[in-house]
Amino acid sequence: MIDFRSDTVTKPTPGMLAFMQAAPVGDDVFGEDPSINSLENITAAMFGMEAGLFCPSGTMTNQIAIKTHTQAGDEVICDELSHIYQYEGGGIAFNAGCSVKLLQGDRGRLSPELIFAGINADDVHKPPTSLVSLENTVNRGGGSCYDFSSFEAIKKITDQHKLALHLDGARIFNAIVHKGEAPHNYGRVFDSISICLSKGLGAPVGSVLVGSKDFIKKARRWRKVFGGGMRQAGFIAAAGIYALDHHIERLSIDHTNAILLKDALINKEFVKEVLEVETNIVIAILQGKYNPTSLVSKLAESGILAYAMSPTQIRFVLHLDITEAQLGKTIETINKL
Ligand SMILES: *Cc1c(COP(=O)(O)O)cnc(C)c1O
Repeated sequence: MIDFRSDTVTKPTPGMLAFMQAAPVGDDVFGEDPSINSLENITAAMFGMEAGLFCPSGTMTNQIAIKTHTQAGDEVICDELSHIYQYEGGGIAFNAGCSVKLLQGDRGRLSPELIFAGINADDVHKPPTSLVSLENTVNRGGGSCYDFSSFEAIKKITDQHKLALHLDGARIFNAIVHKGEAPHNYGRVFDSISICLSKGLGAPVGSVLVGSKDFIKKARRWRKVFGGGMRQAGFIAAAGIYALDHHIERLSIDHTNAILLKDALINKEFVKEVLEVETNIVIAILQGKYNPTSLVSKLAESGILAYAMSPTQIRFVLHLDITEAQLGKTIETINKL
C-alpha cells in the first residue's frame, strides 16, 4: 500500500528501532528516566524554552497547555480550522471548562487584527479571554505556514491584553524547514508549544510540550491528573531523540514531493482546485467525475490510500515512508484517471 492518509502512518526505521532498544530508562513519574529527561531538555533548548514535558499524544500536550493557561469559565481564541477545536473531542470544554471564540483566518492563519477584534471586553456578560492558540503548519489549511513576523505582531497584542499564547506545532518542523527559520526564536514569542514527534518526524508515539519552568511544573501536575504519567517510557522518548537528530532536514523531500503530486492533480478536470502547497500536505477540491469518497475508492484499487477530508476535499500527506518509486506510481495512476 502507498499510504498518503496521514504522516502518522510511518513505522520506525531500523536505525530508530536499534536506538530505542539501547535507550537507558527509569521511572519517569519519579523523574528518573534519563531518555525522557534528555528528550525534554533537548526539545526545550532547541526552541529557546526552559523546560519540556513528554506526553503520549499531541492532543494531550495541547489539552494540558489549554488547561494550564486558563481557568474554568475563560474563553480561548482559535481559528475555526484548528485541531484543538476540530479534532480534540471537545476537550477545551471538557478538560478546561472554557468556551471558544472561533475566528475565520486565511487557511487557518489568524491575523493580529482578527485576534484583537476577538478579545472580549471586561464585561460581566462575557467570558474573560485568557488564551490565544495558533497552529503551524495548519493541517486543514493544507499545511499553510505563518510568516514569523505575524507571530511577533500577534505577540504584541497578547502581551498588551495579558493573554497567554500557545502554538500547536504538530508540524512545526515542516514550517521551520520550509521557511528556513531558527527554532529557538519560537521561544521568544510563545508561552508554550506542542511539538509532535509522531507526524513527519517518524517516531511511533509522542509529543513534547515546552514552556517556562513554572508552566511545565504546573503542566506536569495536569498530565498526572489526565492519566498521562508514564513509567519506563524512555524507549519511546528515544525514538523522538533519534527523530530530532535524523529526520528534520529530510522534510524538504516531502515538500518537493507534495508539489509534484499537486502538479499531477491540477491537470485533471475532476480537480477544481488544489490549495497552495507549502509543506507536506496536498488538499484537492474535487468536481464532476469524482467526489472524495469515490476517488479514494478508485485509488485504493491501485493500492494508493488517501483521505476524504470533507464532502469536497481529498487530502494526501507526504512523509518518510513514501519512496520516490511510490510517488512515481501514484503520479502515473493519477495521470491515467
Ligand atoms: C496530529 C495533530 C495533533 C495531535 O494529534 P495526536 O494524534 O493526538 O498526536 C495536534 N494538532 C495538529 C494540527 C495535528 O495535525
